[in-house]
Amino acid sequence: MSNDIKTQVVVLGSGPGGYSAAYRAADLGLDVVLIEKYSNLGGVCLNVGCIPSKALLHVAKVLDDAKDMASHGVSFGEPQIDIDKIREWKDSVVGKLTGGVAGMAKQRKVTVVNGYGKFTGPNTIAVEGADGATTVNFDNAIIAAGSSVVNLPFIPEDDRIIDSTGALELKDVPGEMLVLGGGIIGLEMGTVYSSLGANVSVVEFADQLVPAADADVVKIYTKHNKPRFKEIMLSTKVVAVDAKKDGLYVSFEGKNAPAEPVRYDKILVAVGRKPNGLLIDADKAGVNVDERGFINVSNEMRTNVPHIFAIGDVVGQPMLAHKAVHEAHVAAEVISGKKHIFDPRAIPSIAYTDPEIAWVGVTEREAKEQGLNYEVANFPWAASGRAIASARMEGKTKLIFDKDTGRTLGGAIVGINAGEMLGEIGLAVEMGADAEDIALTIHAHPTLNESIGLAAEVFEGSITDLP
Ligand code: FAD
Repeated sequence: MSNDIKTQVVVLGSGPGGYSAAYRAADLGLDVVLIEKYSNLGGVCLNVGCIPSKALLHVAKVLDDAKDMASHGVSFGEPQIDIDKIREWKDSVVGKLTGGVAGMAKQRKVTVVNGYGKFTGPNTIAVEGADGATTVNFDNAIIAAGSSVVNLPFIPEDDRIIDSTGALELKDVPGEMLVLGGGIIGLEMGTVYSSLGANVSVVEFADQLVPAADADVVKIYTKHNKPRFKEIMLSTKVVAVDAKKDGLYVSFEGKNAPAEPVRYDKILVAVGRKPNGLLIDADKAGVNVDERGFINVSNEMRTNVPHIFAIGDVVGQPMLAHKAVHEAHVAAEVISGKKHIFDPRAIPSIAYTDPEIAWVGVTEREAKEQGLNYEVANFPWAASGRAIASARMEGKTKLIFDKDTGRTLGGAIVGINAGEMLGEIGLAVEMGADAEDIALTIHAHPTLNESIGLAAEVFEGSITDLP
């Protein structure tokens, strides 16, 4: 027998988009039901994305830093790696956060329904769960169904071929590993496995790693990581994988392709994510979903059906948790009767690699493509006291200004802690700060953040002293 629930707002999916929408709607006094197919709330980000990857990257960083210290006179000897303990630690981090999300749902009296939800009409979702079926009758819905990994059709099914979720399970550290896809996720996981001792090679179809970022910024990352990776094959693609008993034999094509198939113990496929829009019977509610699975929305996050909203990965790029959260707040507030639109000038992107690559606002490539009258101001970290004292001078801070008005259009940082530093540039873009505003803001010395002020001074032509 189906259990019937009636609610003002139903949220389908409990990732960063879904739980943020549910909590904001509940805080605004609305009755909320949150549907999630997994027993843990938090979606991809908390369970198999942002958070576990950063927990493992933290381990990788400590290992790398300990090794680097030898050249500054402190040696620790070979690290003893207990992979089960690392996994337990990573799982405990995930548990803390997903538990916190569940606690917040309880606190706000959000009803959580566990099971797989599909629309059955414009005001109904049927949920099939372990405890039976539930029909949720709603006044408003927020679709936050997220995205899934993309698989390549010519890659065979084999335990040794994993996606990001499999990589985060950290079952073992392979001898030879191929990361297929040199984007953010592939490079973050490649960093983890190489720091743990695997020989990692990377193959990327584009002519640079992290294709969305500016080439000059990525070049610094790539140069610094030559010793980390066994091979970095750019402008190259995998065309076949032969899974044999003694290994995975990979054939490549392209500019840097090895002539013969190369043997690996493990392959991580990290070629992107696809939206889950086609898996929820949205058509039964009259909601349009494009052929790729994306749901088109207005700046109020409304679909073509006015009382049904959509947010997060399922509505488009960039597929990032912080974008989902902001969209979630818009949807919940609009449902509650408030005026709000999603209209950011800048959405930050960060590769939490070593060094980190971070960018926000307009990239130089986009500025060129859009025909903007822009000027770039670079501050190389070789001139930063803090970077020198940290033995990490490879980085740089790059700001992009409107040539006429000096307004900050965007910026990028490659270097340690670049992700943490990026917020200042995002704020400058969002608030329309100009180079003078940044240059006249006193940045503490010696910090890496100082490089943002100094890059603005480069644009102003007023740089006098180097720190
Ligand atoms: P999701 O997090 O995908 O959540 C959707 C939820 O809906 C899931 O829990 C799913 O089970 C549930 N669901 C879907 N359909 C149904 C249904 N029909 N019934 C019931 N439940 C359903 N982003 C960042 O900003 N920073 C990072 O550092 C970062 N690192 C990442 C690392 C990795 C390895 C990966 C894979 C992703 C990473 N991301 C990162 C991306 C980030 O995880 C996503 O952008 C974010 O999770 C999207 O949130 P969402 O709410 O749209 O959907």
